[in-house]
Amino acid sequence: MPGFEVFGEEEKREVLEVFDTGVLFRYEFGPQRGDVYKVRQFEEAFARYTGAGHGQAVTSGTAALKVALTALGVGAGDEVITQGFTFVATWEAIFDVGAIPVFAEVDETLNMDPADLEKKITDRTAAVIPVHMLGAPARIEEIKAIADRHNLPVIEDTAQAAGARLHGRHLGTFGACGTFSFDSVKTMTTGEGGMVITDDEQLWRAMSEYHDHGHDHAVNPGGRGGEGRRFIGFNYRMMEIQGAIGLAQLAKLDSMIAAQKKNKALLKEAAGKIPGVTFRTILDEEGDSATFLAFMLPDRERAAQVNQVLRDNGAGAINFGENTWHFYPRWEHLLQAKTPAENGWPFTAHGKRRVVYDPEALPQSAGIMTRTLVYQVPIKLAEEQKDKMLAALRQAAAL
Ligand SMILES: *Cc1c(COP(=O)(O)O)cnc(C)c1O
Repeated sequence: MPGFEVFGEEEKREVLEVFDTGVLFRYEFGPQRGDVYKVRQFEEAFARYTGAGHGQAVTSGTAALKVALTALGVGAGDEVITQGFTFVATWEAIFDVGAIPVFAEVDETLNMDPADLEKKITDRTAAVIPVHMLGAPARIEEIKAIADRHNLPVIEDTAQAAGARLHGRHLGTFGACGTFSFDSVKTMTTGEGGMVITDDEQLWRAMSEYHDHGHDHAVNPGGRGGEGRRFIGFNYRMMEIQGAIGLAQLAKLDSMIAAQKKNKALLKEAAGKIPGVTFRTILDEEGDSATFLAFMLPDRERAAQVNQVLRDNGAGAINFGENTWHFYPRWEHLLQAKTPAENGWPFTAHGKRRVVYDPEALPQSAGIMTRTLVYQVPIKLAEEQKDKMLAALRQAAAL
């Protein structure tokens, strides 16, 4: 998964170009910067790479979701459907625009179950955010078809799946827009950073304006100070240094994925020998970014047993069913409506509770997640680590 494994000379060279100009801001400073516009070049390169019409860089993957939701007109009182297996950021962004997150089940893709999505659509639904978790696709074609029938925009949270594809097409290009994260543990990293891609020029313009205090970026004699605006905005601007790092990391993305695929195949073959094991449904092996290997045991007890053996042999796997940052029943702050706001917002408004979350609401997801074990697949799998993991999996196979 992490681009930090291949962080090196290329990133340094890109960043030094920024230092040579002394311009850290993505706009203005024309004479001083020459033709060095790293954030703009990163947006163009990322859009070209994914096959999208436009890229909008922002400060984080969470900001990308917030900017996308806002530009799509989602706001207070709206419902946005996402999935119960994701990182907390997905629903934090939904709350942050005033909307209410609604959680759909995941199926064995470990992503949104289209049948459950359909059941959760109401008159108040304003958008759908499927998440391409752990480097591989949600059933995005079915999800898009359902959303289209209900006239709902789809935002693909592609934070964990940069470079992944489905049937030759990049994830993030199926919906109205796709959001990405370049935080420190993502497939490619800029330390902190994010991107939204879209083919819709109007939507891109709204995102570009909103993320920069409403600036319309129209050329005018007064420069930046003379720019107009259509609506209020915020500041989610990416810095030139991040843009520079992004350009270097993007150039390495395909080779990172190729290395991960090789390592994943090794681990998968060994895991396949564990009695009763099955694998996560990968809709398109060719397009998998191979950042993670997820395998299932017949039940929760067996998964715990297998993981104990793996742990005893120095190669424990992640059980996301127990993970407090990625799985709905473990989000106690959500379930218990914990907020710093004294008036209870966003769980309470005008003294009335807006939403209550039932910990038992996603039985299908719980059934799957608690018997699923996950390895992060490194780009560089050192001989010693490889031997240890393969030996641990052999022990589990003998269980
Ligand atoms: C990492 C992540 C985010 C948020 O990205 P940040 O850049 O850390 O804000 C959003 N969604 C998912 C699924 C993620 O994994």
